[in-house]
Amino acid sequence: MSYDPIIGQIIVKAGRDKPIRQRHPWVYSGSIDKVNGDPPAGALVAVHDDRGRFLAVGTYHPASKIRIRLLDWSGQPLDDAFWQAKLAAASQRRAALQLEPSTTAYRLVNAASDGMPGLIVDRYGDWLVLQALTVGIEQRKPALAQQLAALLRPQGIVERSDAAVRAKEGLASVSGLLWGTAPADQLLIKENGISFEVDLLTGHKSGLYLDQRDNRALVCAERFVSGKRVLNLFSYTGGFGVYAAVNGAAFVSNVDSSVPALEAAENNFRHNGVDPDAHDFVAADIFDYLRHLVATGERYDLIVLDPPKFAHSQRDVDKAARGYKDLNRLALMLLADGGYLATFSCSGAISAELFQKIAFAAALDADASAQIMRTLTQAEDHPVALTVPESAYLKGLLLAKSA
Ligand code: SAH
Repeated sequence: MSYDPIIGQIIVKAGRDKPIRQRHPWVYSGSIDKVNGDPPAGALVAVHDDRGRFLAVGTYHPASKIRIRLLDWSGQPLDDAFWQAKLAAASQRRAALQLEPSTTAYRLVNAASDGMPGLIVDRYGDWLVLQALTVGIEQRKPALAQQLAALLRPQGIVERSDAAVRAKEGLASVSGLLWGTAPADQLLIKENGISFEVDLLTGHKSGLYLDQRDNRALVCAERFVSGKRVLNLFSYTGGFGVYAAVNGAAFVSNVDSSVPALEAAENNFRHNGVDPDAHDFVAADIFDYLRHLVATGERYDLIVLDPPKFAHSQRDVDKAARGYKDLNRLALMLLADGGYLATFSCSGAISAELFQKIAFAAALDADASAQIMRTLTQAEDHPVALTVPESAYLKGLLLAKSA
């Protein structure tokens, strides 16, 4: 990558230059008028408007719907120094958060939000986990790994590149050790002083959902959970439930469909000096399980509802909204009067406004009155570039149920 030449020139259609000038990093196939040269996938191309004026430089993909991922608008050469400066700036933004030493797992590079579309890098203690989500990053991966190693001095860099997103770029899923030495199967990291084990290399999923760190601390603070009954839905490896138990919850029921995730959750209770036998770890489909709980008349003081992404695109929004509403309605029925529901959506396609409407409709159907105590979002190591507002994907509401 030391010298990364510009291989092609792209002319965009008249009137399609505005988002590019506004520094949105994606150029769709429909905006392109002409391709001069024959740039292969991953090559750098210069983008010009219909009058031949230079706009930006990015990586090209001849078959992807997002044809170009823009990297630079200044015309500077995209050499090693360019990437070094970007990585160093992203790393400095994280250092300024002063998360260490109580938190040793956090996102270092958040793709387009850090000016590097397609690149995600998380730190887990002395290891880094890299995801290359576009062909442009895939091709520059060895060089980027070398630069990350020099900049951050980890013991190793593990790659866990997600299959679903890569498939859109024609890339197979990849995982393995990219640089340095392999981490232990049960690497212990800290989040707000609480220990979690992560299996970076061979785990079904790697690591933690780092974007929820601030919400775990806020929602499962002692004042909300001490002596209380907590229902942690979509618990994954414990997450919110571990915080609740550490902060004095009388009983935490963790529910997830993944047995390995629940096994790790039990270990995570132990790692923090909490006896898992005093709590519950339930492998079930949550849509069914909530109906079962409603039928048994159970009540909880705090319910956390943190489902996976239901809407992967605009097309899925209606169906996803019905799913969210169903879950929220059932959760509100299970909530004791005076209890709290922390409800989340990580679907970028579901806006904050729509999510609030879903909660409203769910409360009406559950015959519950509820107030919004807080609106919640992703932690600050997952910044949102003003130019890419759609990267504000995580939204949550802390609702209080009144009699
Ligand atoms: N709250 C967690 C992260 C949740 S990720 C934390 O703070 O770490 C979403 C989880 O939902 C995954 O662990 C996945 O196994 C689980 N899941 C997805 N669909 C499910 C379903 N229908 N029933 C139960 N669990 C489900």
